[in-house]
Amino acid sequence: MKKSDKKYTSKIISTKENIPILPTESSIQAVKNLLKGSRFSTKKYFQFKKKDKHLEENCLDTRFAYMKDRNMLRKELTNLFKSMDFICDNFLNKEGTDEKQLQIFFNIYQQLAIAWEHLGLQCKHWDGFRKTKEKSEICRICGKIKGIDDQYYLLPKSGQKKIGKKLFPNSKKVFENRATATIVNDTIDFYGASLNVDVHNRYKSKLFKDIITLADERIVTLKESGIECCIDQHLIHIRMNKPAKKVGKKKYGAFLWELIKKDLKKFPVIVDYDENRNFLGLTILK
Ligand SMILES: [Zn+2]
Repeated sequence: MKKSDKKYTSKIISTKENIPILPTESSIQAVKNLLKGSRFSTKKYFQFKKKDKHLEENCLDTRFAYMKDRNMLRKELTNLFKSMDFICDNFLNKEGTDEKQLQIFFNIYQQLAIAWEHLGLQCKHWDGFRKTKEKSEICRICGKIKGIDDQYYLLPKSGQKKIGKKLFPNSKKVFENRATATIVNDTIDFYGASLNVDVHNRYKSKLFKDIITLADERIVTLKESGIECCIDQHLIHIRMNKPAKKVGKKKYGAFLWELIKKDLKKFPVIVDYDENRNFLGLTILK
């Protein structure tokens, strides 16, 4: 079984004994059962298997996983839609239900809608979309409207997690305010470390009664144990978590060569460089 298939945990695909690589009578029957009601025929499936030599070894595994997921999801969503219709027809649209009860059934309906949204995240819209009377396109399996953003992310428990693509400022225009200039400003707390990505175009800002234009930026900020590291297109800035009482009121900045040796010795910084004196990095001792 391929490593990437590990996320599928159901019994039929997770144990080798259940997935004969060669199409034996029982495996053909199993595939037939799985494919029941889907557009793929068993014949087509084995033709596909034959064509791609490279895929052959793990083909049955992945195909099983693929069909299982899709069929299971379809079944779960169908049941959910039935439950939603049941609440709707028997309680929400029924005359004579008192206000208090109506609120309870309304809440149940909302909770089912949340379940719908979460199940829908697993749908890859395998069967395509169908047009509605209102001319929007909705998925044949999960019922989501094509092109509408999801409210949640679905992340794999193991392996690399990925949210969004790398974004940069994308306009030369000066926007009226920060909100309209913002492309993304999002934070994730990941096992106790905080990561923020802030990407925005140029915008007008009021500073001491004057209106100035703030530059477009992509700033990534990592916070860990009170230490903050900001990276943008021009600078890398690290802020230490010094207790306030230890820090003086005035703040200075200097290049290393501007400082005298006596002062330099107070800073626990090691500079990395090569034989040609190229700067490679630095280490700060905590
Ligand atoms: Zn879908």
